[in-house]
Amino acid sequence: MRILLVEDDKDLNRQLADSLESAGYVVDKAFDGEEGHFLGDTEPYDAVVLDIGLPEMDGITVLENWRQANRNMPVLMLTARDRWSDKVAGIDAGADDYVAKPFHTEEVLARLRALIRRAAGHASAEIEAGPVTLDTKQSRVTMNGKPVKLTSHEYRLLSYLLHHRGEVVSRTELIEHLYDQDFDKDSNTIEVFVGRLRKKLYPDLIETVRGLGYRA
Ligand code: CA
Repeated sequence: MRILLVEDDKDLNRQLADSLESAGYVVDKAFDGEEGHFLGDTEPYDAVVLDIGLPEMDGITVLENWRQANRNMPVLMLTARDRWSDKVAGIDAGADDYVAKPFHTEEVLARLRALIRRAAGHASAEIEAGPVTLDTKQSRVTMNGKPVKLTSHEYRLLSYLLHHRGEVVSRTELIEHLYDQDFDKDSNTIEVFVGRLRKKLYPDLIETVRGLGYRA
C-alpha cells in the first residue's frame, strides 16, 4: 500500500512518515502543495494524508484539483484544531475523513486503514446503502437508479452518515461537521433532516441510537 504524505512541517512529516513506514506502508513525502498536487496527479496512491495549510497551494485547492481530474483516492485531511470551517471545506472538497491537529499517530493510522478498506469496498466514488447510491463525485443520490432530489443540508447529512457507515454518529459530531458556528445547537434541525431523508429514501436507512446519535 502506497501513501502520499503532504505536510510542510518537516518534523511532523518525518515523524508521521516513520510511523506509516513502521505500519508497513510505502510513503512518498511532499512538503508543499504544488509538489503534493503533482505527485497525487501522476502517481497511484492507495490513500493520501493531506495537510490543509500548505505553502504554494493550500490543501483544499490541491484536493479540489484532484477531484476535478477524477483522482479519487481516499484523502485524509489534517486540519487545525477547532477550525470547523476547515473541516467543512475539506469534506466539501472531497476529503474522505479528517484528523484535527494535534493528533495521536494511532488515530491517523486507524483512519487510514478504514479509508483504504472502504475504498476497496467502494472502488468508485459511489457509496451504496441498499437501494440508495450516493455519488460523492457528482453530489447526487439515486434510489433504485432513479435520482432523488435532496437539499444541500440533506445531502451533506446523508453523505456524512454514509461515509461513516455502520458507525454511530452523535448529534454533536453532525452539527460540528455540517453546520456553521452560528447554528443553534439546541434546535431540532438534525432530527428534522433525518426525518426528511427517511421519507425521501426509506425509513430504515437511518437508525436512531437512543442517547447516542444516528447510524446509517
Ligand atoms: Ca501546515
